Amino acid sequence: MRSLPGRRQWGPSVCSPALFDLFASTSLPVPAAVELHIEITSGCTMARKDKDRLRNLVLVFGDQLSENLKAFNGFDARNDAVLMMEVEEEATYVPQHKIRIALFFAAMRHFAQRLRDKGTNVLYSYIDDKDNRGSFEKEITRWIHKTRPRKLVCTLPGDHRVKETVKRIAAELDFGLEIRDDNHFLVSAEEFSEFARGKKSLLLEHFYRHMRRRYGILMDDGQPVAGKWNFDQENRQSFGKEGPAKIKAPRSFRPDESTEAVLKLVNNRFSDSPGSLDKFDYPVSRKQALEALRDFINYRLPDFGPYQDAMFEGFPYLYHSRLSCALNLHLLTPQEVIKAVVKAYEKGQAPINSVEGFVRQVLGWREFIRGIYWLKMPEYAQRNELQAELPMPAFMWTAETEMNCIRQCVSQLIVHGYAHHIQRLMVMGLFSLLLGVNPYEVHQWHLSMYVDAIDWVSLPNVLGMSQYADGGFVATKPYAASGNYIQRMSNYCQNCFFNPRERLGELACPFNSLYWDFLFRNQDKLEGNHRMRMQYRNLDRIESSDRRKIQTRADELKKQFTRKTYLVSHPNK
Ligand code: FAD
Ligand code: SF4
Repeated sequence: MRSLPGRRQWGPSVCSPALFDLFASTSLPVPAAVELHIEITSGCTMARKDKDRLRNLVLVFGDQLSENLKAFNGFDARNDAVLMMEVEEEATYVPQHKIRIALFFAAMRHFAQRLRDKGTNVLYSYIDDKDNRGSFEKEITRWIHKTRPRKLVCTLPGDHRVKETVKRIAAELDFGLEIRDDNHFLVSAEEFSEFARGKKSLLLEHFYRHMRRRYGILMDDGQPVAGKWNFDQENRQSFGKEGPAKIKAPRSFRPDESTEAVLKLVNNRFSDSPGSLDKFDYPVSRKQALEALRDFINYRLPDFGPYQDAMFEGFPYLYHSRLSCALNLHLLTPQEVIKAVVKAYEKGQAPINSVEGFVRQVLGWREFIRGIYWLKMPEYAQRNELQAELPMPAFMWTAETEMNCIRQCVSQLIVHGYAHHIQRLMVMGLFSLLLGVNPYEVHQWHLSMYVDAIDWVSLPNVLGMSQYADGGFVATKPYAASGNYIQRMSNYCQNCFFNPRERLGELACPFNSLYWDFLFRNQDKLEGNHRMRMQYRNLDRIESSDRRKIQTRADELKKQFTRKTYLVSHPNK
């Protein structure tokens, strides 16, 4: 990975303790099937020489920052300790955005302090400790030797690789291990697998309706409130030339002393990592995350629905929540987020199309994606249905391209580590799909550029939803479109060097030639998909001489775009 640049600047911050009361009792009921799941790999046979040994060493990973984790059930402050680790390997196994590294470390340090304030014994490996050995494997082993606990306890990690690491350590040291369910999701891996049993394909819509009924969310006497399960027809608006009305950007959190120290550390130690810390303003504690939730509900939720697919230059967040990081780090629970949003509807603060659209994302997509991850891993990571093998172009890290849509979205990633769903799916994901980038490499790029990326959520979204690498398990057809879609849903094309209406010639929008080329080269695999019938009918209308020209142009573009990349290799190769 080569060096990428960085600068600095902060925003204002205010915190309201009353928010704790507001959300303190907002958990939805946890169903019996999500109750404690224990996996014991072995019993501890280490010599028990002294009585001062720890009973349980509770591992808390950086995306598990909640006092309500099941790993804390039965925690005894006199006999147990918590272990938290900042390790080099996790920040570099794929070169990661500086904001992502900083967010994890800052939130972990705030959480550790909160636990200490409550009297919990927290063992903490700081990244710059001189005896920090740099990986989970080595650090857990070091702390086991140091503290000689009787058992390891943890919550199911968000990454299959980390789960296997913990199991391997326990097996190698012949050590007791309990991996407990993550109660910061509504559906456990076992329950999802039960839902999937016997089904040839899994459709989000079926799962989502099952979840609505099961938890009684937006339901009225067994029927969806307002008489409809979804309001997609009302939710596909774009902005006119004048752009969006004034939108209040997400609440900005000024780094405190502890976060400042982390920012400094990351800028020094990970200066070669992508992205910039100039505008770091993410919530790093539960208190801040609750404020971010309230801010979204008050200022952006009402218009979330109609404009959820729209894009506009200079507006990175539009009406989106920017809550994915807080949710993924467990600073918020999906239960309380859903409950707060539904409450806003019941109080008349937000219309049903916005509230249902948002609930669908958290109750539907988020749980569905995680279910698929645990159902299909580890084989899932190898999937490459369309046999796409090109590397990710270097400009996907630097934004140095004449394609304005890509330039805008990647520039936004560099500064905020954030892009909203449609920018991910219908600009950057679409471009990688049409170009034919290796899907695992797209996932690695994703891990390296997005602040909210964790394996369980990035992999099925990238491989499944955006790159069709699983052959239609997550998405029933590839999200393949020409530049036309981007022109309709954004103003990017107005300021672009290329022309979205042309498919041939120097000024033709690259998405167009690549789109038709994508359909040609995958014809055997996709033509039979009834949802692609119209696209293939349109392809048939193209004269064969034009087809050849399109393919020649697409080949030139592929060569030109992939001349340079930053990822050297990926573990699956
Ligand atoms: P909003 O638009 O406000 O949506 C609300 C919440 O719904 C999000 O915070 C998120 O928790 C949840 N959500 C919505 N869609 C999904 C989804 N498909 N999968 C999981 N959760 C969803 N989300 C991540 O959290 N991490 C990722 O690494 C990630 N990778 C993605 C990669 C691709 C190619 C695509 C198409 C989507 C990906 N998503 C990922 C899902 C979604 O794009 C982001 O959750 C969302 O853009 C985050 O911004 P927000 O919080 O403003 O979301
Ligand atoms: Fe993107 Fe093509 Fe539009 Fe340019 S013309 S912004 S490359 S879709």
